[in-house]
Amino acid sequence: MDIKAVIQDKEKEFINVAMDIWNYAETGYKEFKSAKRLCDCLREEGFNINDSIPELPTAFIAEYGSGKPVVAFWAEYDALPGLSQKVLPFKEPVAEGAPGHGCGHNLLGTASLAAAVAVKELIKKGKIKGTVRLYGTPAEELLTGKVVMVKLGLFDDVDAVIGWHPERINMVMETPTSAVCQVKFHYKGKTAHAAVDPWNGRSALDAVELLNISANYLREHVPPGTTLHYSTLTEPLAPNIVPEKASAWYFVRARKRETAQSVYGRLVRCAKAAAEMTDTKVEVEFCGGCSDYLPNRTIEKCLYEAMVSCEPISYTEEEMDFIRDISKTLPGSLEASQAQVRTDYGINVSDKLICDFFAPLSETKRKTCITGSMDIGDVSYIVPTAQINIACYGYAIAGHSWQVAAYAGHSVGMKGMLKAGEVMAKGAKLLFEDTSIIDRAKEEHKESLGGKPYESPLPDGYKPF
Ligand SMILES: [Zn+2]
Repeated sequence: MDIKAVIQDKEKEFINVAMDIWNYAETGYKEFKSAKRLCDCLREEGFNINDSIPELPTAFIAEYGSGKPVVAFWAEYDALPGLSQKVLPFKEPVAEGAPGHGCGHNLLGTASLAAAVAVKELIKKGKIKGTVRLYGTPAEELLTGKVVMVKLGLFDDVDAVIGWHPERINMVMETPTSAVCQVKFHYKGKTAHAAVDPWNGRSALDAVELLNISANYLREHVPPGTTLHYSTLTEPLAPNIVPEKASAWYFVRARKRETAQSVYGRLVRCAKAAAEMTDTKVEVEFCGGCSDYLPNRTIEKCLYEAMVSCEPISYTEEEMDFIRDISKTLPGSLEASQAQVRTDYGINVSDKLICDFFAPLSETKRKTCITGSMDIGDVSYIVPTAQINIACYGYAIAGHSWQVAAYAGHSVGMKGMLKAGEVMAKGAKLLFEDTSIIDRAKEEHKESLGGKPYESPLPDGYKPF
C-alpha cells in the first residue's frame, strides 16, 4: 500500500481521533485526554512512546524504526479559551464561554499522527530505513511547549522536522515568523479613600497607565517589524478606592529573538520607571517566549514536490453550502482573500469560495516576515524544519475564531487534515529515500545560522506553568 492508500484505509480512525480532540477542547498544558488519545492510537500502531516528561506532563515522543535518518513530525492539540462552537455555519457555542478548537489544532495533531503512521508502514515493509518520530507538543497557543522541549534537548538527534498548520491556502509555509517575549508587570501600591485622603494612597493603576503611555511612545523607536501589545489585568474596584493592585500583560514581538529581547529590556526599564513615578512596587514576571522561525528551503522543495504529486481536494454540494453560509458571517473577508491570492500568485479566484490549487513557491514571500509567532521557531534553530499549509477553511476566515472551530469539526476540515497527512508523509519519504537531501538541508541550516549558537529565550529553571 502506498501512502495515500494507508491514510485512506485508516481515515475513519483518524477522523474519530480528530473529533475526540475537538470534543475534549483542552487548553494549553491541560491537554491530558487529547495527548492520551493520540498516544493510545500510536501504541496500537506499534510506536514506542515516552509520555513521562516531568516538565511537560501533556507532551510525548512516539518513535518507530531505528537508526538514521531520524525524521520527525510534530502534533499540537491545545484549544483556545472562550471559542466553544458547534459544527454550524452560525455562532452557537457547545457551552457558553468554554474552550474550543479555534486554531484547528485537533486537525493539526491528527494529520501529523496520520503522516507518522503512513511513514511507519513504509519502514515496517522495508521500503525505507530509519526512524520516524511524532513529537506531542503541548500549549502551542502559549508559545512555550516546544521551546521547553528544545531546552530539554529532546530534538538534539533529529535530522529533519516536518509540520503543517490548517489554513486557507494549499502552500508551503515559506515565510519566517516573529520572535516573542511575554511578560506580566504586577504593581503594588497602597489603598486609600479616593476622595477623603487620596494623599495617603499610591495607585497601582496609575503605574499601569504610565507604563502603557511609555510603551506607546516606545513604539516609534524600535526596529521595523517590532510590535508591542498589552492588556491590563486589574480587579474592578469602585472609582472611590485608590487601587492597591494592578497588572499589565505584554507581548513584545520582533523579526529576530535578539531584537525582541532587547526591546523587552527597554520595556522593563519603562515598567520600573512607572513604579518610581507612582511610588509603587513592581514585580516583573517573565512568562516565556519563543524564537523567530527559520524556514529550510531544501526541505520546502521536497514538500512542494510532494504536494503537487497529490490530487487536489474535492468538495460535495453540502460542503460548498456550509462554506458559503459561513463566509456570509465574515463580511469582506472573502473578497480580501481572493484579492490577496491575485496579488500573491496572479490567479483569479473571484468565483471560488475555497482554495482548489497548490500555490507555487514564491521568492518574494519568503523574504517577508509574519508578524505572529510559532513555537516551532526554536525547533527550527536546532533542526532543519519545513512546513505546509492545507486549506481546511474557505477563503473567508478569521484566525482564532468560532468559524475556525466550526470548520475544525466539519468534513471540510477533515479533508484538509487527511491531505496534509498525505503530503507530509510523501515529503518525509523523499528524505528517507535520498539522505543527501538531508545533508544539503543541514548545510543550508548551518549557513542560515551564520555561526551563531542557538540561545534559548527561556532562562534556566523556567517553569512553563
Ligand atoms: Zn495554531
